[in-house]
Amino acid sequence: MIRFEDVSVRYDGAPAPAVSGVDLTVPEGELVLLVGPSGAGKSTLLGAVSGLVPHFTGGTLHGRLTVAGRDTRTHKPRELADVVGTVGQDPLAHFVTDTVEDELAYGMESLGLAPDVMRRRVEETLDLLGLAALRERPIGTLSGGQRQRVAIGSVLTPHPAVLVLDEPTSALDPAAAEEVLAVLQRLVHDLGTTVLMAEHRLERVVQYADQVMLLPGPGAAPVLGPPAEIMAR
Ligand code: ADP
Ligand code: ADP
Repeated sequence: MIRFEDVSVRYDGAPAPAVSGVDLTVPEGELVLLVGPSGAGKSTLLGAVSGLVPHFTGGTLHGRLTVAGRDTRTHKPRELADVVGTVGQDPLAHFVTDTVEDELAYGMESLGLAPDVMRRRVEETLDLLGLAALRERPIGTLSGGQRQRVAIGSVLTPHPAVLVLDEPTSALDPAAAEEVLAVLQRLVHDLGTTVLMAEHRLERVVQYADQVMLLPGPGAAPVLGPPAEIMAR
């Protein structure tokens, strides 16, 4: 569960906050689509949930933001790995190892898990994401959709309650995009993961969403509701 209590974010030197008045709760086990015009604060909001804002991007977060009960302001992103996983637009920017299975294991390294637990989680995640046949493949030889699934897998092995994705299908062709969206939907329904995902290609993703969060414009408070209700606005 993600709980925003009167959250705003202001970047240093900016005349106005990038997001403000965020006061809502994202329930567990739903796929929430974050939409809004360019500059409305989507990336800032996602970064706040990931702990990237303020620790890596600068800026100041006011109010209180907790993910699975943990305050994102007092925890560095690394200390949030077991509650929130974050995947960006470009999976290549994300990878630190050579092969699929090493990449899935890497995300657990700072958690202090026993080696047999880590091995089990790699196996379980390979199966879950349909990557078992690719386990020894160098990541550079994979297709875009496969890479994006590996990126998702690498943040999934710590068993986060929340997955945050910034336009995860924007660099993909329609078939690969559907592959990734189907995986996300499975995580929500089978594991009860909460997925918060920004996307501008609405026609592609809205059918997968349980809820839509609309950021109407720069600094304007978001509204959250069922897709049909929000898209009619
Ligand atoms: P969106 O993802 O909806 O396009 P962003 O969150 O990227 O919106 O940006 C919201 C506002 O915050 C914009 O005015 C943008 O220029 C500004 N902004 C984003 N990141 C930073 C940063 N690291 N430092 C200063 N300003 C930023
Ligand atoms: P261990 O620490 O031994 O891996 P857990 O109790 O943490 O044991 O997890 C095992 C269970 O978690 C499995 O039944 C599996 O279905 C489920 N699981 C698998 N992937 C995830 C995930 N990404 N988030 C939450 N639970 C998951």
